[in-house]
Formats: sequence, C-alpha cells, structure tokens
Amino acid sequence: MGHGLSCSRDGDEHDFFRAAQAGDVDALDALLAADPALARRATIYDRLTALHVAAANGCLPAVDMLLARAVRPDVVDRRKRTPLMLAATHGHIDCALALLRAGANILMFDSVNARTCLHHAAYYGHADCLRAILAAARTTPVADSWGFVRFVNVRDEHGATPLHVAARQGRPECVHLLLESGAIVSAPTGSYGFPGSTALHLAARGGSLECVRELLAWGADRVHRDSAGRIAYSVAMKRGHGACAALLNPAAAEPMVWPSPLKFIGELGADARALLEAALAEANREREKKILKGTKYSDTSSPALTDAGAGDDGDEVDDQEDEEVCSICFEQACSIEVEDCGHRMCAACTLALCCHSKPNPATLTLQPPACPFCRSCISRLVVADSKAKAVAVPGAGDETEAEEKPASPRLSRRRSRRSREGSSSFKGLSSAMGSLSSKIGRGSGRLAGDGDGAFLDKLEHDLP
Ligand SMILES: [Zn+2]
Ligand SMILES: [Zn+2]
Repeated sequence: MGHGLSCSRDGDEHDFFRAAQAGDVDALDALLAADPALARRATIYDRLTALHVAAANGCLPAVDMLLARAVRPDVVDRRKRTPLMLAATHGHIDCALALLRAGANILMFDSVNARTCLHHAAYYGHADCLRAILAAARTTPVADSWGFVRFVNVRDEHGATPLHVAARQGRPECVHLLLESGAIVSAPTGSYGFPGSTALHLAARGGSLECVRELLAWGADRVHRDSAGRIAYSVAMKRGHGACAALLNPAAAEPMVWPSPLKFIGELGADARALLEAALAEANREREKKILKGTKYSDTSSPALTDAGAGDDGDEVDDQEDEEVCSICFEQACSIEVEDCGHRMCAACTLALCCHSKPNPATLTLQPPACPFCRSCISRLVVADSKAKAVAVPGAGDETEAEEKPASPRLSRRRSRRSREGSSSFKGLSSAMGSLSSKIGRGSGRLAGDGDGAFLDKLEHDLP
C-alpha cells in the first residue's frame, strides 16, 4: 500500500471509521464511550474525519451523533473539503441540513479548485442541497459580510461561478435556481472552459438544450463572444449539438425573457411565480417548435422542466367549470390578479404585458406596466384563485368586490380544462423537478471518480 503510515493506528480506530462508513450508530456510540478522542481523529492519508465519512455516505444518525459530541462542522480533510461539501457532492440533503443547522460555514474553499459547497452542489446537480445552501446564505453571517448575491456569484480559482459549472454539467434545475437567486447570466469565466466563456457557451459546449433554454429565458446574450471571438452558436455547431445551435442561432426568433428587472416580479409569491414561469416556458416552447420545425430536431421535446403541463393531456377530470375567462385573449382562464385594482387576466397575457418593453440596457430597469383595464400602475400580482388568495392575503378588503364584479364570460368545460394547464403547472413543475433531481441525484455523484464506490475504495486504502 502506498501510504503505509498506518501501522501505529489501533484497531479501535479502524472499527470507528468502519462504523461511521456503515452508519452503525450503536458501534460508534460504544467506541466513543471508550475513547471520546476518536471523534476528532482523521484517516491517515486523506485526513477524513468520521463526520466526513458519515456525511459522504448520507448517514444522518451518525452525523447527528458526532455533531452532538461537539465535533466542529467545519473540520477539513487533506483537500480542505468540509463535511458539508461532501454531503453536497453526494446529494445527501438531510446531512447537509443537519450540518447547516449546526452552523457549518458555507464560505469555505477547498484546495482542489478553490470551490465552495455551492459549486459542488451545482456541479453534481443536487438542487435540493443547492436550495438549502442558498437558504442558509440568506440568514447566516455570509449575507452580512459578503452579501447574498456576491455569494451566489462566488468564483473558483478558474473564475467559474456555480452557474458556470451547472451549465457546463447540464443541470437545468440548478441553473434555474441560481438565476432566480441573482446569478449574473452573462458573466464570463476566467480560464474555466474556454477562456471568457459565459454560461451560455458552456451549456452549448455540454449540449444541454434545457440549460440553453433556461439561460435564454433569463436574458443570456446570444451574440456574446468568448476570448477567441466565438459565440455560443459556433460552440454548439462545433460540438455537433444541432438543436442547441438552432436556438442559439442569432438569426432565430428572440426568446421571451423573464422580466426580472421589474420590482413586483421579484416579490411574487411562489404560486403566482410558478404560473408566470409556466407561461414563459409555454411561450418559448411555441417559439422553439417554430424554429425546429422541419429540421431533424423537431421531435426534440423537452422532457422535464419546461414541459410542465404537457403531461396533463390524459387528465380529463373537470371539477372547476366556472373559471373566469381572460378578457384579453378569450383563450385561457384568469389566473393572475393585479392586487392594486383587482383586475384579472391569464398568466400568458400578464407575462406578455410585463415583457412588452425591453429593459434599458444601461440601467437594466423596466418601466412597470399599467393594468390594461384601468391603466393604474401594477405594483403587485397575486394568484386570482379566491381561495388561494384568502390564504395568501388574509384580511384583504377587496375580496368581496372582486367576486361581485359584473358577470364575466364563463369557460366551457373544454376551456376550463385547457386553462388549468396553467393552474396545475405548479404541481407539474414541481413533480417534474422532483423526478429530474432524483434522476440526476442517483448517478451524478460518481462523475468525477469520487462516487460512493470510489469513495469506499479510497477509505479502504486509507485505513490501516
Ligand atoms: Zn389572456
Ligand atoms: Zn386594473
């Protein structure tokens, strides 16, 4: 064995790391009772502590037990990785949450590429871990000392942000979460990927159509050039990713862009946001169909994230017949309400209204749109469903008024079904996200030869 410094290690220590690896809490407990110092020991070569081993293997009871014995959550191994980084790498959300609750520092950098736990979660596509770390970043001292948005855009030693690595590895759900949290869509890397690449270049290189879609919908610039003067389109062409290239072609129709500069868009409730995001995905899917029509990629349907609602085709249950039809398009049900005046319209029309004007490129500000019915300035949008609204805004005074508005056209059964593609899309979206993350979650930890198998081998090698 190469790292043969192990002769002096005693049998108890060997048993201790074995127990941490196997999640044998009883054995851990007995060994720690006999020798409490074991909790802080590390393996000889990789300097992994039992907390690292338990976090990497997803053994929550062992993680809890070690933390309860005052093991520091931020202990580092030989490569300066924290247990939280290992939990994020392997997608063990419960262990990650336990470590975060114990005060794990999210702003530690490993010595491999100077990456943080946020990079690791994004790289391996563990959106649940990414979400938990982002939530912690909003409340921990990081938000005060660094600022939340700066943390979201933290760079590794090659200039790669979590968004860059997620785009390169084809992790659309992580790309989405990061963009939503303030990741700068057009930031170029340093030397990561090809010098000066943006996330769009990296998604084009990786051939992830879903990441390309996400980035375009957040305003990624198709004509941004990397240091070699290439736009993302040429990168996709060179790599043979034809469908990506078709969307990235600057000559193709412009995608609809999420109106993030609008203040009230940043303040949307989760349900209203999901409706508008689904409307955006739907609008862009239509555009995509036109672009790909007649090419060999025309069948490239989006399997998950942006395809929410498509799975509803077989769902014929009609339990809501009396939805109010949108008086702008007379197509879909009113799902969004302008809270200020109580006027309602469908998500697609609301979105079209918000995306109507382009942001001022210098200031990135948008003029807030006016309500198309009364011309009052929109400052807050909510879901039009009166039940949902009663929960979301208890005691809002205009509710009875809204319900007693002059009779609006009522939807036919068919219409009502069609329209609920919007309202059910939140469920569709989250279930699609769920299956996506579990799909990604399974295998992805193994990508860098650091998967469970390799991990165990290493440990085996490392132990006496
Ligand atoms: Zn409409
Ligand atoms: Zn109005």
